[in-house]
Amino acid sequence: MSLRSTLRRVYDNSPISVQTKLRMIYGRIPDRLKLGKEFADYSEHLLLNERLTREELDAMQLTKLREMIEHCAQQVPFYKSLFDRAGFKPAHLRTLADLAKIPPLTREDLRAQFDELRAVNASQFEPELCASGGATGQPVKFLLDRKAIALEKACVRRHWLRSGYRDGEPSANLRGLRLALKRGTYSLIDKGETCLYLSSYDLTPNTVKGYTRAFNDFQPALLNSYASSAALFATLIEGRALKIHSPRSIVCASETLYPHQRERIESVFNCKVWDWYGLTELVGNAGECELHSGYHIGMEQGYFEVLDESGRAVAPGEVGEIVATGLHNFSMPLVRYRTGDLAEFTDEMCPCGSESRMIKSIQGRVFEFIETPSGARLTATALNVHDNTWNSVIQFQYVQKQRDTVVLRVMKGETYTEADERRILDRMGARFGGEIQLRIEYVSEMPKTPRGKTPLIVREIK
Ligand SMILES: [Zn+2]
Repeated sequence: MSLRSTLRRVYDNSPISVQTKLRMIYGRIPDRLKLGKEFADYSEHLLLNERLTREELDAMQLTKLREMIEHCAQQVPFYKSLFDRAGFKPAHLRTLADLAKIPPLTREDLRAQFDELRAVNASQFEPELCASGGATGQPVKFLLDRKAIALEKACVRRHWLRSGYRDGEPSANLRGLRLALKRGTYSLIDKGETCLYLSSYDLTPNTVKGYTRAFNDFQPALLNSYASSAALFATLIEGRALKIHSPRSIVCASETLYPHQRERIESVFNCKVWDWYGLTELVGNAGECELHSGYHIGMEQGYFEVLDESGRAVAPGEVGEIVATGLHNFSMPLVRYRTGDLAEFTDEMCPCGSESRMIKSIQGRVFEFIETPSGARLTATALNVHDNTWNSVIQFQYVQKQRDTVVLRVMKGETYTEADERRILDRMGARFGGEIQLRIEYVSEMPKTPRGKTPLIVREIK
């Protein structure tokens, strides 16, 4: 077991005061000790892979995929029986497209079949027991190999480097953290002085000055944030007309970044957002490059398909669910795992020079939609507006409680008037086609998930 795994276990079972202390020393521990010697090797290889052609990258994936499928057939009871039932043999995997002969795996399968999905020889991969968030209900547990975690960290490092960050530079973290802080303070700097941790839970119009001061004093090269937290920070800074240090890049991750959020963040911080799409199950990742024309898939970590509801691959320009196959996690392989995330598929090549496969955009979660009484589904993309509708609003969230009623939670800005309310009800009401009654509920603080996130759409309908 890695030092990181041991620390993680202590961290998860500790009160916030101990968690905060652990966080303070974590940055001082060298990556080699935390993640093992493989981290440096992976980091080097990932940068070299940037020069590979698409054919070479596809061939690399096929080799890894064959190794993984062979392992599944030999060592994983769930897949032994699934392959038998589907009449599939590892030898059938001649091209990447042949993977479609294996039925997809759902989150429910993972929850119900945990023991069967564990490889018989799992222990030799030094796995860590992990869980992903429960936005749709119960959290789901799974095992992650020590080396798979090191590869993930190396992929994230490559993304940060692409954004202009250099190893060892100071960064700021605004990612749903709970911190044990002295009264009146909202941030902490780690002992290595490499990271400014900002609490996501106390960011309000009254405290934003303190956050801004801490940020400006620390001068981070990069802000690592949830999209909703960075957008809230930007809106509050703008509302108070504060001056904010402009980092070289802002990396948003772990939440869908919507266009209205990106615009606000980029204009207030005067720098670009480099969005990152990752999965806690480590079955794949994708990140924006300097051209921001889409997301480069981290082809070393996972193989992505984008499928429609009937399980067929969508055409370029169409939106479907990302179905991912992890290529590095042998203790609990997830093959054709339905992620619940929607993406626009593209077969284009990015002009930046990296020939890795792409997805055009991330469009939210499969379950993030409002359903009208006549059965139409309105996603966040359908509800997106490019005008002054939300100008005086700090944050908002749609909550569907009944088939014909949506509550729009609104956190008002200082300049908000009745005219804003009328404009929001008129414009957004029109989007629901008269089928849904839209009601505004004013809140002083937006409710957060247990991980400190603020989804745009919440379905409380049974
Ligand atoms: Zn590119």
